[in-house]
Amino acid sequence: MRLVLLGPPGVGKGTQARMVAEALGIPTVGTGDMLRDAFALGTPLGKEADGYMKRGALVPDAVVIGIVEERLRRPDAAGGFLLDGFPRTLEQGTVLDRILAQSGGKVDRAVYFTAPRETIVERLSGRRTCGDCRAAYHVKFDPPLAEGVCGKCGGRLIQRSDDVPATILQRLEVYERQTAPLAAEYRRRGILEEVPAEGAMTGIFEDVMRRLRRTAG
Ligand code: AMP
Repeated sequence: MRLVLLGPPGVGKGTQARMVAEALGIPTVGTGDMLRDAFALGTPLGKEADGYMKRGALVPDAVVIGIVEERLRRPDAAGGFLLDGFPRTLEQGTVLDRILAQSGGKVDRAVYFTAPRETIVERLSGRRTCGDCRAAYHVKFDPPLAEGVCGKCGGRLIQRSDDVPATILQRLEVYERQTAPLAAEYRRRGILEEVPAEGAMTGIFEDVMRRLRRTAG
């Protein structure tokens, strides 16, 4: 299955992406993670992306599209994949359609996670992420057992540089303006599943899986 996850920052996409991809046996292709990896490795592309990410702006298409194209060409993506964070604009959506059409494919399903704005801002402001395995925690709702330490791999927990108040508001604005229209496009195609992303992680995951097992339309 070629699956796209949509939804505002902080809605829990990353966590659900890992769970759903594992259940379906397909790789997760997360553009935010790939860009952060590139920065951590000190590549020119990573350095260029970092300036935009810190401001809560979108990284230029010329940078992002190349990364995605290269990733989707790898053999493990041949049997399907889950995209988290791409496409983020209608233009990127068109590019994705074009890339997939080259091998006779298309986006099969899109899952659109929704949550009220207050919930999102609260989740993002308290989010802590493992620098090693990327597991997500929340200082209030899902604190690690030992402060600052990842319970899954022992890595150090960090606050993402874009999870600070001014940047959070900017990211939400960018999302509403540039990314939200994609949901309407996938709804028009009859492949959109809208999932309320409040409550327990496992409940949301089961909801997603139930919907994906049904045929689209
Ligand atoms: P995320 O980890 O998905 O919240 O993405 C973090 C940041 O990475 C975003 O705020 C953007 O600056 C950048 N980014 C991730 N995916 C894309 C994309 N598809 N297009 C442009 N910028 C992106």
